[in-house]
Amino acid sequence: MKKEHSKRGIKFYSYGLLIFCCIITALITYILFSTTRNLLDSSLKRRLSDIATAGALMFDPIQINKIIDRNAVGTNVYKDAIFSLQYIKNVDPNIKYAYLLRPTDDLNHMAFVADSYSLNPDQIADYSQDGIIDEEDALSWPGDIYDVTEIPALRDDALKFSTTDAEPVYDQWGLLISAYAPIKEKGETIAILGLDVEVGNYLRQINRTFVPFAFFVVFLLLLLSILTVFLVQVWQERVDIMQDLDRQKDELLGIVAHQLAKPITAIRWDLESLLDGELGALNAEQKDEARTMRSQAVNLADLVSMILDVSRIQLGKMQFDPRPLELNTLFAEMLDIIKPTIEQKKIHFVSTMPETFPTVYLDKRYTRMTIENLLTNAVKYTPEGGNVTLNVAIENGVMSCSISDTGCGIPKADQGKIFGKMYRASNVVNTVDGNGFGLYVAKGAVEGQGGTIRFESTEGKGTTFFITLPMKAVPEGAAT
Ligand code: ADP
Repeated sequence: MKKEHSKRGIKFYSYGLLIFCCIITALITYILFSTTRNLLDSSLKRRLSDIATAGALMFDPIQINKIIDRNAVGTNVYKDAIFSLQYIKNVDPNIKYAYLLRPTDDLNHMAFVADSYSLNPDQIADYSQDGIIDEEDALSWPGDIYDVTEIPALRDDALKFSTTDAEPVYDQWGLLISAYAPIKEKGETIAILGLDVEVGNYLRQINRTFVPFAFFVVFLLLLLSILTVFLVQVWQERVDIMQDLDRQKDELLGIVAHQLAKPITAIRWDLESLLDGELGALNAEQKDEARTMRSQAVNLADLVSMILDVSRIQLGKMQFDPRPLELNTLFAEMLDIIKPTIEQKKIHFVSTMPETFPTVYLDKRYTRMTIENLLTNAVKYTPEGGNVTLNVAIENGVMSCSISDTGCGIPKADQGKIFGKMYRASNVVNTVDGNGFGLYVAKGAVEGQGGTIRFESTEGKGTTFFITLPMKAVPEGAAT
């Protein structure tokens, strides 16, 4: 179940990461494109306002001052101005209109001076080139007033410096952007040269350069998606195979441990009989040897039972057998076991427990194995003359137990993995004997019974393990 969760989690992260990459790539592509486009737009605008500035130099302010109203039409000054405008318009086929406007006292209105078509304003032609001659083709006369309220670049900026409209607009010529340049006399703007330039082709070209680039990015993203799906599938197959192998290994471990348990028990019984003199009296030396063999057999039996527990946890087959348990007897037995080592290492051992314990339902083997392992570790990893403290309290049907020592502690880097199977901390792995099964099984045993296990440790100072175990009290008078 847990494995299924983590499998789903990794799949979720892989596809999540892929979607994230796609969004980021699309965003970066868009930002790159709009930055490039803005750069090209501003260089186009600069070029257009440069053309307008150069064009403005062709006009003589004194002559423009003479083109005030309709009376100027037909005069040489008027014709010269129009020829100059035609010349400027012909510089580039994209320039559709070239005209002169004069500021008036009202900022929002300007007076028409001339444009490149208005040599003879009476003459009607299809100037807009839309196939019909209508009011759009009517030419303006010098002095006609234009409302420029809606053209901020012309109204506000063009009187001071060359500029262009911020955005192109559509009209009968297509997509146009206007450039303006002031014509000055003694520092004062007396007229403005305006050029309407068709930029549709230019913008279409920019967009066209983006299309192959966008296709390339989409292609890359597609490739990345296919690769991710493929990798996730391969990874999933590998994980399935590895999980299967892991399960087979755990089963094998269980079978081997199970098969070993029987002969080891038999050896232990035989050694007990030998020591009890049932097979004849032993001399002192033989007794010593037999005792050593018995203690080795006990260690071996413990190891085999640990391996069996590891395999049960791995296979999710841990089974608890809660039976009425006398906790004071259990603690007395456990303390008897560690007493010889405590004395041998001259450890100051202090225990605080309730005076009387209730009889409770608990799995004896797992409870004993857990607390005994924590006590044995505390003594094992504490140097001679150190302190080990056991505190037991029972409250609201929960037994809380803490085991502290002033031993070598667990390095910070190892703390996250210390409950892992066969994990041993770097500060003891080569100096103190052990197999790394104890805490793994203890965690499985405590959590399997609905309890908790955690620790606090400082390397070089000591460690405290805390466990809590919920228990059900045996009702008064029930058979134990
Ligand atoms: P073992 O003691 O056989 O190595 P355990 O599973 O009981 O295996 O413990 C795993 C590891 O946790 C130990 O190897 C040791 O590094 C660390 N450890 C456990 N208890 C203590 C303790 N009281 N003080 C210091 N380190 C500890």
